[in-house]
Amino acid sequence: MMQFQERFADEAACRAYLFACRWPEGFRCRRCDGEEVGVMHRRRRVWQCKDCGAQTSVTAGTVMHASYLPLRVWFWGAYLVATHHPGISAVQLQRQLGIGQYRTAWLMLHKLRRAMVAPEREPLGDEVEVDEFFQGGLEEGLSGGRARGKKALVGIALEVRGRGSGRVRLQVLTDDSADSLGSFVKATTAPGAIVHTDGWSGYNALSALGYVHRARSQRAAGPGEQLLPRAHRAVSNFKAWLHGTHRTTSHEHLPVYLQEFVFRHNRRVTPHAAFQILLGLSTRHQPSTYREITQHAA
Ligand SMILES: [Zn+2]
Repeated sequence: MMQFQERFADEAACRAYLFACRWPEGFRCRRCDGEEVGVMHRRRRVWQCKDCGAQTSVTAGTVMHASYLPLRVWFWGAYLVATHHPGISAVQLQRQLGIGQYRTAWLMLHKLRRAMVAPEREPLGDEVEVDEFFQGGLEEGLSGGRARGKKALVGIALEVRGRGSGRVRLQVLTDDSADSLGSFVKATTAPGAIVHTDGWSGYNALSALGYVHRARSQRAAGPGEQLLPRAHRAVSNFKAWLHGTHRTTSHEHLPVYLQEFVFRHNRRVTPHAAFQILLGLSTRHQPSTYREITQHAA
């Protein structure tokens, strides 16, 4: 946090960072290919080409575009949303950033969160645990087995990484039929991957779909041994997070919460990437050093 504070101490530092994200190899005019910056309009966050006068906004295409809020407030907002576990509310954001209106803070949070609900396309691979669980409804836990009731059925696919876990995918399922579960695995996991499941017959078609299916029943596993331990851990983390942050189990918003959890889980070790994605910055280029950033713009 101190590093962040030092690095983004003022508007100029934030502008310099945006500049370096947009032009990691130095300024290039989008119109004439000129390499010299002429005027910079600080207030409008615009850089102007010295040769042809074409203007480029450093916030174009980002979440900050056309916002009257200081860049620093956006940077801090993205930092808090990306690193604060579990999550952060609009009220907390308003308080921590000293934003006057609740609505402003709410809108900002909403815009930052939008980047989290964009579906991720890169499929899970190698070795994956797949399971399904119920979410929501007051009767949760009361009726056992696979009875549906008012609860939503959610599929989870989680990469096995040694004793730990890699990326996760969560998705609301219509039911636990072979069709639904097969579609879920196809949508989340690369063909050829090893897929661990419990003994439910709905998973029996996975081999035919091109996966190396390893099913195990609780009976075969024996008492005390947990099947799919990583998936179970992620599910309890999800439930605790949902209860602690959003305090709701409304079905209407469940898909959004699932995506937000997936985003947080998959980027828990790379908060810097999360920060950039939330602001809508390209993550293909990383400004490498502070000097490299500051030499281009001040
Ligand atoms: Zn130009």
